[in-house]
Amino acid sequence: MKTVNDFNFKDKKVLVRVDFNVPQSADLKVTDNTRIQAVKPTIDKILQDGGSVILITHLGRPKGKVSDEFSLKNIVPEIEEVLQTDVEFCPDCMGEDATNMTGNLKPGKVLLLENLRFYSEEEQGSVDFAEKLSKYADAYVNDAFGTAHRAHASTAVIAQFFPTTKFFGLLMAQELKAIDKVLKSGEKPITAILGGSKVSTKITIIENMLPAIDHLIIGGGMAFTFVKALGGNIGKSLLEEDKLQLALEILEKAKAQNVKVHLPVDTIIADEFSNDADRKEVDIYDIPESWMGMDAGSKTRDLFHDVIINSRTILWNGPIGVFEMPNFSAGTIALGESIAEATELGAFSLVGGGDSVAFVKQFGYADKVSYVSTGGGAMLESLEGKELPGVKVINS
Ligand code: AMP
Repeated sequence: MKTVNDFNFKDKKVLVRVDFNVPQSADLKVTDNTRIQAVKPTIDKILQDGGSVILITHLGRPKGKVSDEFSLKNIVPEIEEVLQTDVEFCPDCMGEDATNMTGNLKPGKVLLLENLRFYSEEEQGSVDFAEKLSKYADAYVNDAFGTAHRAHASTAVIAQFFPTTKFFGLLMAQELKAIDKVLKSGEKPITAILGGSKVSTKITIIENMLPAIDHLIIGGGMAFTFVKALGGNIGKSLLEEDKLQLALEILEKAKAQNVKVHLPVDTIIADEFSNDADRKEVDIYDIPESWMGMDAGSKTRDLFHDVIINSRTILWNGPIGVFEMPNFSAGTIALGESIAEATELGAFSLVGGGDSVAFVKQFGYADKVSYVSTGGGAMLESLEGKELPGVKVINS
């Protein structure tokens, strides 16, 4: 894997594709700067070498139209704050201004070009657009893990114009190493914990991971389809009726590959989908008709704890209860505790994809696990075994 650490960027202009698609408040201030912080090491490395950095990114979905709402000028102060350096801003990523400002950029300086998605050519993967961008620089670095699963002009197509000077940024390298640690070189026993609402969105991940793992914990809403397939009464709990057969097939496949599957044994049920609903703890195979399972029960928490605490490598994707409602968050919190404890004991733990990342940040577990991925879709597609376009073009 060729990273920015393998090259000296002295006097080079470097196009760095970052993912500054950050959340903003109503007055367009950055509310979470994780994605900016995450690429600081890459930018610092290039600047310390004596190179200059041309940052390119998208923000939101402007769909090819220029708008104030999606302008990157709104996030310049936050970038300057995080990088602790002045950042010049070019109000167009194409045209004369961009050519002049990139042309005049001095070593040690950082320039941010306006939102790439103000041009529809970006998402279309236009070769012409990519070639124009490539003219600004001597080298190309992709550190946008969050968009690495998209074959866009700036994330994939552009690399062909830098046959010998294309590199992974340090964030990309870290993310890819974390995935490899689970799927390829993980210390055993390896446990994957999958939760969330639907079996259908996790099937490919399960199938791809089975050859690599020893234990599969299935929790959250998706567990009820398995429980029903095994003959349980699940009341009004989440169910994907058309996936019942598939659930049984997954259990068979796991058995054939010597993967031990752990399903919940009890659940906290509610009489309606609301934080204020009446609650009870019951056997998960025996949920009353008009009730629904909303969180992992106490026996389940203990069961999962035992598996996790004895694991050396852990991947977690998806909450095991409706954690957004305080009355149904305890199961997911207990799971976070178990993973934190295993990590403390020396296990490698990776949290990736959507809601579990939101959970670890919100509930203070981000520093208690080994690695929290910055890319939702990109992480999920990696776990599905797909080679991400943004990764492939740098490796080839
Ligand atoms: P996903 O996007 O598929 O990873 O699903 C995440 C969502 O699953 C979260 O919003 C949780 O509230 C939801 N979830 C977890 N457990 C349950 C459950 N038992 N019933 C309904 N939704 C659940």
